[in-house]
Amino acid sequence: MEKTLVIVKPDAVCRGYSGKILGVLEENGLKLRALKMLQLDKQQAQEFYKVHKERYFYDSLTSYMSSGPVVAALLEGDEAINRVRRLLGATDPKEAKPDTIRARFGQNREQNAIHGSDSPESAAIEIPFLFNELEITDHQKAT
Ligand code: UDP
Ligand code: MG
Repeated sequence: MEKTLVIVKPDAVCRGYSGKILGVLEENGLKLRALKMLQLDKQQAQEFYKVHKERYFYDSLTSYMSSGPVVAALLEGDEAINRVRRLLGATDPKEAKPDTIRARFGQNREQNAIHGSDSPESAAIEIPFLFNELEITDHQKAT
């Protein structure tokens, strides 16, 4: 079982798509292990996206990501990282395959509805950035 981190971005949260987006992920077999709504400040968004700090879009991206509440979720499943990335679709919603989350709910290359960890190394950094141990649940059968 693999864990991955998703963030429903401010554009999708404010347009009311958080539940639908999490629903798509759950319908595709990913299990929710942790969930919360929060608003990043600019500095936290800069830290989260620091791999992109030399990119031309870094300042705009981090302003956008701190512009409103987000919904962060820890999902678990076999090959969760790649499966979630396939469900998200390409970065630019216009280039994303039909039926992917970004094609359905994204607005443009920046405001593309959702983040998903791109590798085990990224997931290992991103998960503890957003969740502490107490917030992460184990898989349990509901009696
Ligand atoms: N982004 C942007 N302009 C670009 C490329 C990316 O605004 O030309 C934003 C977009 O929100 C994207 C995020 O920066 O999701 C991180 O970029 P990355 O290339 O890692 O895309 P992702 O892994 O999210 O598909
Ligand atoms: Mg990326």
